[in-house]
Amino acid sequence: MLKRFLPNEHVKSIFDITPERLKKLGIEGVITDLDNTLVAWDVKDATDEVKQWFQHMKDHDIQVTIISNNDEERVSVFSGPLEAPFVYSARKPFSRAFKNTAKQMNLSKKKVVVIGDQLLTDVLGGNMAGFYTILVVPIVETDGKITRINRMIERRILNWMRKKGMITWEER
Ligand SMILES: [Mg+2]
Repeated sequence: MLKRFLPNEHVKSIFDITPERLKKLGIEGVITDLDNTLVAWDVKDATDEVKQWFQHMKDHDIQVTIISNNDEERVSVFSGPLEAPFVYSARKPFSRAFKNTAKQMNLSKKKVVVIGDQLLTDVLGGNMAGFYTILVVPIVETDGKITRINRMIERRILNWMRKKGMITWEER
């Protein structure tokens, strides 16, 4: 049961995820969360660093799609300038948006990673849909309303996993 919440990898930020590293894993596509993964949940636009990250992926022929549970306005305003495909109101952790996106990318699940800052949506959803999952540390410690409840549950799951010795990364 707890295994479903366990990411394959845990990194500090998306900038630790490079095309070179992904290619070693045989990865050609990235599905990434938006809020608190790419920028803080209350920041509207991509930073220069995020823009460069997207460009770097593109230069190495790695497709990147943004999948968010947030609404159309938030996700489209952010993704537009990046020229990145996006899915809003994705209803993570349900599998549908993940699976549809891999299909859109024309890639098998094995060639796609799911990146996000939340166990209950990104990691659980990515795992259940059969993808390799990478958890990042949330950019800021605050969250939007719904996420705050998820975080409370997340803390309990993290504590269980810690007690069982399932966590090999540093504490947040
Ligand atoms: Mg998030």
